[in-house]
Amino acid sequence: MADRLTPPAGGSAIDYERAFRVRSPDRPVIPYIEGDGIGPDIWAAARRVFDAAVAAAYGGRREVQWFEVFAGEKAIARYGAGMYLPDETLAAIRDWRVAIKGPLTTPVGGGFRSLNVTLRQELDLYCCIRPCRWYEGTPSPVRHPEKVDVVIFRENTEDVYAGIEWKEGTPEQGKVLAFLNGEMGTRIPADSGIGIKPISERNTKRLVAAAIQYALDKGRRSVTIVHKGNIMKYTEGAFREWGYEVAAEKFPGHTITEAHLSQGDRQLDPGERVVIKDRIADAMFQQILLRPDEYDVIALPNLNGDYLSDAVAAQVGGLGMAPGGNIGDTAAVFEATHGTAPKYAGLDKVNPGSLILSGAAMFEYIGWDDAKSAIQRGMESAIRDKIVTYDLARQMDGATEVSCSAFAEAIVQRL
Ligand code: NAD
Repeated sequence: MADRLTPPAGGSAIDYERAFRVRSPDRPVIPYIEGDGIGPDIWAAARRVFDAAVAAAYGGRREVQWFEVFAGEKAIARYGAGMYLPDETLAAIRDWRVAIKGPLTTPVGGGFRSLNVTLRQELDLYCCIRPCRWYEGTPSPVRHPEKVDVVIFRENTEDVYAGIEWKEGTPEQGKVLAFLNGEMGTRIPADSGIGIKPISERNTKRLVAAAIQYALDKGRRSVTIVHKGNIMKYTEGAFREWGYEVAAEKFPGHTITEAHLSQGDRQLDPGERVVIKDRIADAMFQQILLRPDEYDVIALPNLNGDYLSDAVAAQVGGLGMAPGGNIGDTAAVFEATHGTAPKYAGLDKVNPGSLILSGAAMFEYIGWDDAKSAIQRGMESAIRDKIVTYDLARQMDGATEVSCSAFAEAIVQRL
């Protein structure tokens, strides 16, 4: 057994009332998980940017007290076989409230849930946020990527991701099938795999409420509820209903529905109110390509949220540029949205942009907006000067391809 982890002396805990109600002291302890594969490369690059951005923004008045905790391969090396996610790591995140992580290898083989899924479930991180905006100069497959500036709120705990399914041909599947076909009047072919899609009122309402609260706090104009309710009435359709309900119950006076804004051929001015609207998921995939500037904060159930997040990320430069955070009422974990890219591990080659922008989102979350803005400025200016890693360089004319660490250095010089 390894020695117990010791948090850095001189730091203190973030004041965490609930999701999106968080204030940081000047010297917060922030646990980090370096991650597997390219994790050490991108973490080293990102940390250099974080510390420089905080110094540039607050001139020594504020400083993060980084606290390394372990998961994945590094945890096994330290704690022994099977210890992918030690209790001590979970306890540290629970105690210090806000953490950041690199990608983790999902162990292949029976008995292991993804470490990321375990983290989300153990800490009840019900809200997955993905802020997606374009940084000038970033190569994009669309003509007007500058029109994309959205924050996706994806429900993170239920839907088909609840992991409730039965394999074709097993006794359990046989029992479920007998019940459904025998007692519930369904006609499911006997050779079917069967999965369950639970969507609950409580989990929907807390997710949509978080999205609306965020929109109000940040002066965003609208929250769009995306669903496939025309087909899945009692899950996706209910998500839509509960979304409108929670807007009316918790934010009367601060929200107005899109339907209420249209008075015949006259459009009312919403003023300061956040407009609540909804779109069917397939239509939304078209809309976000064709009219992205009509969307702002977007709230979705888990599966559609997964798909739309990657589609929007592609519009602004790909996964290397897409930040993410998993947020709950007692803790939040920010993370790079890509995986461990094992073939590039240790080569100092990949794009640390996703982790760096996840850090920017984390600083915004704890109320350090100036640090966030400094990071965004530095990143935008490095890309505008065409100093980029290989993934972006190969899509840009006249780019200077640099290493992972040199990209971080280029950002630091431009904070
Ligand atoms: P991946 O994201 O690791 O890599 C796919 C490809 O994307 C890479 O080969 C590389 O070409 C490119 N890429 C990824 N990150 C990049 C970066 N920062 N800069 C430049 N290019 C980048 O996906 P994968 O290969 O499917 O998964 C590898 C491992 O990562 C698996 O064990 C998987 O379970 C894990 N994973 C973890 C997370 C997480 O921790 N959140 C997410 C996804 C996958």
